[in-house]
Amino acid sequence: MDLPENKKLMKLKQKHIDRYSRQIILKKIGVIGQKKLLNSSVLIIGAGGLGSPISLYLAAIGVGKIGIVDKDNVEISNLSRQIIFSTNDINKKKSHAAVNKLKKINPDIKLISFQKKLDKYNINKIANRFDLVVDGSDNFRTRFLINDYCLKKKKILVSGAISKFDGHVYTFNFSKKESPCLRCFIPSVSQTTMDLDNCEFEGILGTLGGIIGSIQANEVVKEILEVGDSLCGHILIIDALKLTFRKVKLNKRKDCQCYEKRK
Ligand SMILES: [Zn+2]
Repeated sequence: MDLPENKKLMKLKQKHIDRYSRQIILKKIGVIGQKKLLNSSVLIIGAGGLGSPISLYLAAIGVGKIGIVDKDNVEISNLSRQIIFSTNDINKKKSHAAVNKLKKINPDIKLISFQKKLDKYNINKIANRFDLVVDGSDNFRTRFLINDYCLKKKKILVSGAISKFDGHVYTFNFSKKESPCLRCFIPSVSQTTMDLDNCEFEGILGTLGGIIGSIQANEVVKEILEVGDSLCGHILIIDALKLTFRKVKLNKRKDCQCYEKRK
């Protein structure tokens, strides 16, 4: 991922070298890679089952600026999978409680909480401050909103979804004109399911968030560092009961908005 021109790479201090030594030692990361991570900014939508592991890992590995958007307060039924929260966080604002936890893990990075519902009126103001967006939201209305925003702004979107014992991961790199979008895979959903939270109605095994969220965090790192094979152009479909990981090709759909705008 190209950093904006005005973002000069900072100099690593001794405390950075100490904290990130196990990453810096990796040839594919090194000092330059760690500087890239520290200079990057990632917005995480949803401090839930996915947002918990995503934010914990991105903070720990040293993504320099992390934003977390969530409108809800912590409920007792969240704690089986939303591992960033503790029992004494119940009734606290999720985005604030999450940021407080992340500050303890890594006090050197910038953390911003947005205790609000992401909508078409505020998405520009919130997301324009970040280079890359990670979707850990729990409803289609928000998923499509984020997809359309990232497509328009040519940003990288790493999206994940979980239900019952299954999960999906997608990476869309909209700086590349061949990138499909979420609507290529899911052209439309009915108005009645648009705002439905699947976890609430269908149930979810707590560990699924850990599996899918950790893969999302891993994809974010790969996109920032430009290492490995990008998932862009594929969907990763995981069945945790059968323990199968299927990487399925996802092409642009000819009647999709992204085909028109980006051909
Ligand atoms: Zn599309």
